Amino acid sequence: MKYNVVIVRFGEMSTKGKNKKDFVAKLARSIRIALRENEDDYKMVIRHDHIYLYIINEISNLEKCLAEISGMYSFSLAYKIEDPDLDNLKELALKVFAEENGKTFKIRARRIDKSYPYISDEINREIATVILKNTPWRVDVHEPDVILDIEIREDGAYVFTKTLKGMGGYPTGSIGRCLMMLSGGIDSPVATYLLMRRGVEVTCIHFAAPPYTNSGVIDKLEDILKKLTKYQPKIRLFIVPFTKIQEKIYEISSEGYPITIMRRMMYRIASRLAERLNLPCLATGESVGQVASQTIDSLNVINSVTNLPVLRPLCTYDKVDIIKISEKIETYEISIRPYEDCCTIFAPVRPKTSPHFDECLRIEDQFDFAPLIDECLDNLEVKYIKFEN
Ligand code: ATP
Ligand code: MG
Repeated sequence: MKYNVVIVRFGEMSTKGKNKKDFVAKLARSIRIALRENEDDYKMVIRHDHIYLYIINEISNLEKCLAEISGMYSFSLAYKIEDPDLDNLKELALKVFAEENGKTFKIRARRIDKSYPYISDEINREIATVILKNTPWRVDVHEPDVILDIEIREDGAYVFTKTLKGMGGYPTGSIGRCLMMLSGGIDSPVATYLLMRRGVEVTCIHFAAPPYTNSGVIDKLEDILKKLTKYQPKIRLFIVPFTKIQEKIYEISSEGYPITIMRRMMYRIASRLAERLNLPCLATGESVGQVASQTIDSLNVINSVTNLPVLRPLCTYDKVDIIKISEKIETYEISIRPYEDCCTIFAPVRPKTSPHFDECLRIEDQFDFAPLIDECLDNLEVKYIKFEN
């Protein structure tokens, strides 16, 4: 027996008061985008507490598609009957248990339509009795193998045993926007995904240093972002020609400082671009303690060049856990493709873990970087990465 409706739950989003309508509309939009190949195969109905997808024709991959939409707490694959008469419910319950695996069960009825003539306990008892009489299944109210949920609503009864976890977070783009510093590594794509999942619309900036870094890096970034269009259908990528600044930094920096100064320059340029694009914050894949530039002292010295908030979704994550996520979202294999990042090429032997503000200012005072920063911003390349199947 094939389910004929999917019940979509919003979760955390349902606490959002007057913004809720907007959130629900954005979630509905994400569902439409994810299922656009199948637009004639289902009918969407939005109600105040759930979204219902009434299935007209079977949709292959439906569960997988829904599990990748942010803002969805859970979804149930249900059988709906228009007439929730007790005999109809009993007949349906018998059919469901004929297809389930297990030995023990529990019935969990909810009477949402208060005009229904039986209260929840009565429904539970009636249905359980018919299962016990006609099948080998036994009741276990504490740890059942199968729970049969029955929801009696005004338009009929929804019956289900299968509730799947959604991606959580908020619908795409419903929370705000940010400028993400995207390297070709493992971390920043994962950070990008986590922000998208949380409802933040992400624009990316990458600092390229040709000819030290080759064009393979850009292909790599495009491949990574293609994977992420599943979560945000359109992504902008700005590429900054960073070579001149980088060469200058290495010429004038004292030992241990190039990475710190380089990161301060990246933050400065990213802030300028964010302002130009009207994006209210920056984001990075930094994780506290992971490398010398990510100690608390380093982050402090680097962060001090911007007034914008900097989101660091991976701030407390261990590398192994970051890798697990990157495997799940299929960016890992792309991230580990060999390439030369501007950081790796210029990395000093022993970068400072506790850089001093005064020393950064002293180094930066030796040369007027402002024209080079302007030049970077005047020569940005932009790419638009769009969802394609
Ligand atoms: P990742 O795996 O994402 O490369 P990482 O562990 O290599 O991170 P770093 O190289 O120190 O760490 O970079 C920290 C963060 O700085 C990255 O997650 C990214 O947000 C940003 N970043 C580093 N290099 C670049 C770059 N070339 N262009 C844009 N952002 C960068
Ligand atoms: Mg890196």
